[in-house]
Amino acid sequence: MVGRNDTLDAIFRRMALNMSDLAAIRALPGIRRNLDFLKPGDAIKLTHTDGNIQELSRKVSETQTLDVVRQNERFEAKLIDNPVETQVRTAGATIDSSLFQAAAAANISDLVALKLANVFAWDIDFVLDIREGDRFTVMYEQIYQQGKYLRDGEVLAAEFVNNGKVYRAVRFVSDSGNAGYYTPSGAAMRKAFLRAPVEFTRVSSAFNPHRRHPILNTIRGHMGTDYAAPTGTPVHAAGDGRVTFTGWRGGYGNAVLITHGSEVSTLYGHMSRFARQVHVGTRVQQGEVIGYVGMTGLATGPHLHYEYLTNGVHRNPQTVKLPGAEALHGEALQRFLELAAPLMAGLQQPAPPSALPDPVGTASVGAVSLSASPVPGGGDSRIKGAVN
Ligand SMILES: [Zn+2]
Repeated sequence: MVGRNDTLDAIFRRMALNMSDLAAIRALPGIRRNLDFLKPGDAIKLTHTDGNIQELSRKVSETQTLDVVRQNERFEAKLIDNPVETQVRTAGATIDSSLFQAAAAANISDLVALKLANVFAWDIDFVLDIREGDRFTVMYEQIYQQGKYLRDGEVLAAEFVNNGKVYRAVRFVSDSGNAGYYTPSGAAMRKAFLRAPVEFTRVSSAFNPHRRHPILNTIRGHMGTDYAAPTGTPVHAAGDGRVTFTGWRGGYGNAVLITHGSEVSTLYGHMSRFARQVHVGTRVQQGEVIGYVGMTGLATGPHLHYEYLTNGVHRNPQTVKLPGAEALHGEALQRFLELAAPLMAGLQQPAPPSALPDPVGTASVGAVSLSASPVPGGGDSRIKGAVN
């Protein structure tokens, strides 16, 4: 196993291996690039007799292994292909406490749950809008190698029913190679503004399926949405725009104001501090971190105060109709529609009857039993990172 700052020289010395073998292997044509670049955690398999190398093999990419074998007095190297195979899995669940818990109960990884949330991030506020009884179906890739599961791949299509409203999305890669998600009729899921300017994964304790928006508009006469989140939680620009104010602003405390085109502006208050690059005049992009949650100004606890204004008039950021990105058209639209039809049909297929869309107002609770048993405890919305 390769350690931090390890080199092959160090490994050979540590294991008392023949250094001239290393030199001979390195001298093989086209080898060094695949051999000398080591990352901590890489595995290199070395077979030796009394320190003399018989075989060295190392995975150089997901699909290739470098194999060096002693042939009498010299070494021979070859790259072995380990092709991967993509399978498509469709699974769904009903949310009764959190997206991640419902996903886990259906054997859906946190990574896929997070991708699912990102697909719908412009329509659904995953911090404040998720309700008991919300449900989803997701069709996604699973990558296998020689029959062994490696990792999850892309989300190909998904449906999310939030508060009785159905959202559907299909992944599409344009001729120029850009991947994006579109509604079944070809409108972009991506919009000019994110629904929530904080990452829902950071707001772990905010979810309560029975609450009735206790943190929305709690301050009389204040027109915005409050996101309770730990101090230091990154705050993201809801859309592309230009910073027009940064500094202290009365009860808002440390605030940033961004204007987006000529009509829309957004305001972010109570921040503990600003991101380093954020000054008046700075151009920011959607999702860019502009500051961090705090409780400066009139705030009883750490939270982000967020306002969305159209021509100076406050709108409810959770329900305001957001300007969309460009829809597909022409030949791309044709290609998309042909791709989307079978995917959307597939989304409806696998779920057991209880998961099929039934009339609004469902009271169904619990995860759809695609897996043997629900995960006990849970509610933990941290990302576990790479799937093993
Ligand atoms: Zn507020």
